[in-house]
Amino acid sequence: MSSLFSKIIERAEEVSEEKEFDAVVIGAGIAGMEASLDLADMGYSVLLIEKEPTIGGKMFLLSKVFPTLDCASCISTPKMAAVAHHPNITLWTYSEVLKIRRDSERGYVLRVMKKPRFVDESACTGCYTCEEVCPIDVPKELDFNLRARRAAYIPFDTAVPKIAVIDIDNCILCGKCERECPVNAINFLQKPKIYTVKAKSIIIATGYNLFQAEKKEQYGFGTIPNVVTSMQMERLLSPTRPFNHVLRPMDGKEPASIGYVLCTGSKDRTVGNPICSQVCCMYSIKQAQLILGALPLADVTIYYMDIRAYGKGFEEFYNQAQAMGVRFIHGRVAKVEKGEGGSVKVKYENIDEGGKLETAEHDLLVLSVGLLPNCEITKVFNGISLSLDEFGWLLSPDPTNPVKTNLEGVFAAGCSTGPKDIPDTVVQAASAAAECAAYLKKVNIIAEER
Ligand SMILES: Cc1cc2nc3c(=O)[nH]c(=O)nc-3n(C[C@H](O)[C@H](O)[C@H](O)COP(=O)(O)OP(=O)(O)OC[C@H]3O[C@@H](n4cnc5c(N)ncnc54)[C@H](O)[C@@H]3O)c2cc1C
Ligand code: SF4
Ligand code: SF4
Repeated sequence: MSSLFSKIIERAEEVSEEKEFDAVVIGAGIAGMEASLDLADMGYSVLLIEKEPTIGGKMFLLSKVFPTLDCASCISTPKMAAVAHHPNITLWTYSEVLKIRRDSERGYVLRVMKKPRFVDESACTGCYTCEEVCPIDVPKELDFNLRARRAAYIPFDTAVPKIAVIDIDNCILCGKCERECPVNAINFLQKPKIYTVKAKSIIIATGYNLFQAEKKEQYGFGTIPNVVTSMQMERLLSPTRPFNHVLRPMDGKEPASIGYVLCTGSKDRTVGNPICSQVCCMYSIKQAQLILGALPLADVTIYYMDIRAYGKGFEEFYNQAQAMGVRFIHGRVAKVEKGEGGSVKVKYENIDEGGKLETAEHDLLVLSVGLLPNCEITKVFNGISLSLDEFGWLLSPDPTNPVKTNLEGVFAAGCSTGPKDIPDTVVQAASAAAECAAYLKKVNIIAEER
């Protein structure tokens, strides 16, 4: 059955006025923000499109970053603010690209839908009144369901833009938010709007999807209460954390023993993802160190197949975790079972003991989930196709220029081309902006000569 929101979306209104930009950047994670800021600083006009109600992507949900342990939101929130206030950047959040076609030799035409927030963006002051009076609680997606949000909500205290949104599929239309909003910003009659946008170039910065841990059934996510994902642990450790402490979600107990299963959904043909996710070893080592900061008496054990500590300072970071007392067991986890009193039993093959089958018990088990391609955007290209590689990531056909795609004037930034850490993402975004700027210069010269 289709939801109320999807029925409303079907009644979108066309906006006749066309918009024109030098570049459209799709996806406002750290890659899209960085590429937009670089292009905008060079004087180009940029439309940055984000499908969620706030920009920031995954990075602003993280705790700290490896190997420096800098606070992730302290780095990303100033960038989010810079994006929102840059005179050359037009920011459309809660918006989706429906179609992209090639217009002439030098341009693209996009159909972009601004989804209804049911809140007047220009009037909302982000005062939280609607959220406070709304009686409906639903799991909060941005906290990976560790706590609830209201049907009328502001995604985060540091959301950009800080504007409320109404989740119409869970709203009971009680009208409390509408009555209490001090500036009459709530508008249940708001409709989706479809814009035609012309752009000389496009940067795809749509990032990655997380591996759905329930697909690895033998690890018990969703069936054994104290099995969580690494993204949930990021939220438990972050400055904007749900409980202000590292707790077991089932009973609120402080865990004394925590296990990590690396490569959950990576390097695993049985789930269709044979490649390494590149960041899971390091983010797990980071989380282990942060846990020991929050819970100094805890035991942390990491079950690994091999540790990929390939970047600058990574090996030292790994050594530092060992020196802090994090236990590394070279072993493949075969099965996870429910233990006594909410504990989690881990059955693993100890490779350093000749493959001996062993069992360990932890209060909390963290599945270090892998990064999967987010290739939905390729479906909106009409009459032309954006190529993917054999694993479903955007293809970079020229090995000497990883930000170029198979389409002229379309560039790729960040994890859209494959798993990456934040420094590599930022470098690639800057490179995509530079390539895009060179392309725009060439296109503009040709246009002037005509
Ligand atoms: C648990 C975990 C911990 C991590 N810890 C670290 C760490 O400590 N250090 C480190 O360097 N890296 C870490 N990483 C990796 C880090 O998350 C990535 O390097 C970074 O987020 C990549 O940024 P991105 O902008 O390419 O993608 P994303 O962060 O995925 O952003 C993509 C954006 O595009 C938007 N989008 C997607 N599709 C569309 C569409 N069709 N239209 C419009 N918008 C769209 C998304 O909503 C999102 O806002 C971690 C990853 C995980 C899973
Ligand atoms: S919609 Fe109204 S009540 Fe809700 S945050 Fe905005 S101004 Fe406040
Ligand atoms: S009308 Fe909907 S969003 Fe507003 S307070 Fe009632 S349930 Fe919440």
